[in-house]
Amino acid sequence: MFATLSDRLASTFKNLRGKGRLSEADIDATAREIRIALLEADVALPVVKEFVGAIKERARGEEVSGALNPAQQIVKIVNEELVAILGGETRRLRYAKTGPTVIMLAGLQGAGKTTLAAKLALWLKEQGKTPMLVACDLQRPNAVNQLQVNGERVGVPVFAPEPGNGVGNPVEVAKQGVAEAKRTLHDVVIIDTAGRLGIDAEMMGQARMIRTATQPDEVLFVVDAMIGQDAVNTALAFQEGVGYDGVVLTKLDGDARGGAALSIASITGKPVMFASNGEKMTDFDLFHPDRMASRILDMGDMLTLIEQAEKAFDQEEALKAAEKLTGGGDFTLTDFLAQMQQIRKLGSLSKIMGMLPGMGQFREQLDNFDEREIDKIQAIIQSMTPAERDNPKIIDGSRRLRISKGSGTQVNDVNTLVDRFFDAKKMMQQMAKGGGMPGMPGMPG
Ligand code: GDP
Repeated sequence: MFATLSDRLASTFKNLRGKGRLSEADIDATAREIRIALLEADVALPVVKEFVGAIKERARGEEVSGALNPAQQIVKIVNEELVAILGGETRRLRYAKTGPTVIMLAGLQGAGKTTLAAKLALWLKEQGKTPMLVACDLQRPNAVNQLQVNGERVGVPVFAPEPGNGVGNPVEVAKQGVAEAKRTLHDVVIIDTAGRLGIDAEMMGQARMIRTATQPDEVLFVVDAMIGQDAVNTALAFQEGVGYDGVVLTKLDGDARGGAALSIASITGKPVMFASNGEKMTDFDLFHPDRMASRILDMGDMLTLIEQAEKAFDQEEALKAAEKLTGGGDFTLTDFLAQMQQIRKLGSLSKIMGMLPGMGQFREQLDNFDEREIDKIQAIIQSMTPAERDNPKIIDGSRRLRISKGSGTQVNDVNTLVDRFFDAKKMMQQMAKGGGMPGMPGMPG
């Protein structure tokens, strides 16, 4: 699922790598590529327009962040906007304060309602609830029986009209089902209703009557994600005909493009609450917009890293360092130490590296990396006088000996550090001349 979209977005971000800042043309080109990516993923046009508009506006307006390079900044914006169109925060079920919580399912025939009823029941059971299923789909031949079979599979009782009792009245069955749950002390009732192959006034009318008769705590609209753009149209028709509180997407496993998942919350204004992604009873869970967005962006733990970098990075310190590099000011060992402490705040170096996609192959080297190296460097710098830190050129032989004793290291260690500092300084000044701020961390390679 989302494979094409993920690939497309990844190559869009790749084009931004190495850029020092984003020009208007870069932003336009990126927005265009994101637009194509979303349209190809079958996302509804109004959603695409709004999404791309928001990305453009934010990319132009966003404050320059010291912690992130431009490509990372775009990834971050796209991620946040994806979470927003997917519905924002995970929306959890509202339970009734007294008596059983009533959940009513509505949707077209074949959407996966009956299967979903049992999956939801199992999920609730695992949360410590005592659910009961009510079979009100008296339309589709065999639907009652199917619910009974599924109920048995997940070990949840099913309330159903007596067989051979004529057509039966689904509204009555629903009412009796809720009453039965009260009597037998079940804390959640799931009402499976009848669907039709297409949008149908009679079906909507019946669902509305069940809704009025049972006053559900949650009405969930169940929709097959595989039907793409039609999912959005159906969702709008049910919103008008029945009304609902949340959406359940089924067959996400078969939805290669993901358009329905990406459009529905934003078009209906109702959150996707659950997702079903397979034929097994356990292929079902709460829908988490943030997790779905990072899956679409497919960037390993890149997003976590971006967040951590932002939190840890002190904007003021970064600006000071940048000024020194570009404004001809002198970059000193004090700045070097300050920068290292910033990086330190992100966590251990091997952990940071490990979060970057593609670093798996270096796992062994990373595991062998000695974090104490950094402690050593820190000890050496802290054993220097302020004058030495500001002007390392004055660190002669006798000073080196004193510093090594003070920091409990070898003279050789002090020599290496001083050499490395001069190398780093030279490199940073070259980068500053080239317009690029040495960013930490870099984009995945
Ligand atoms: P209903 O008419 O809405 O009650 O739909 P059903 O529950 O009978 O489901 C219709 C078909 O879709 C059945 O063959 C189910 O096995 C299948 N189905 C339901 N949910 C999923 C899912 O998440 N993934 C896949 N691959 N198939 C599903």
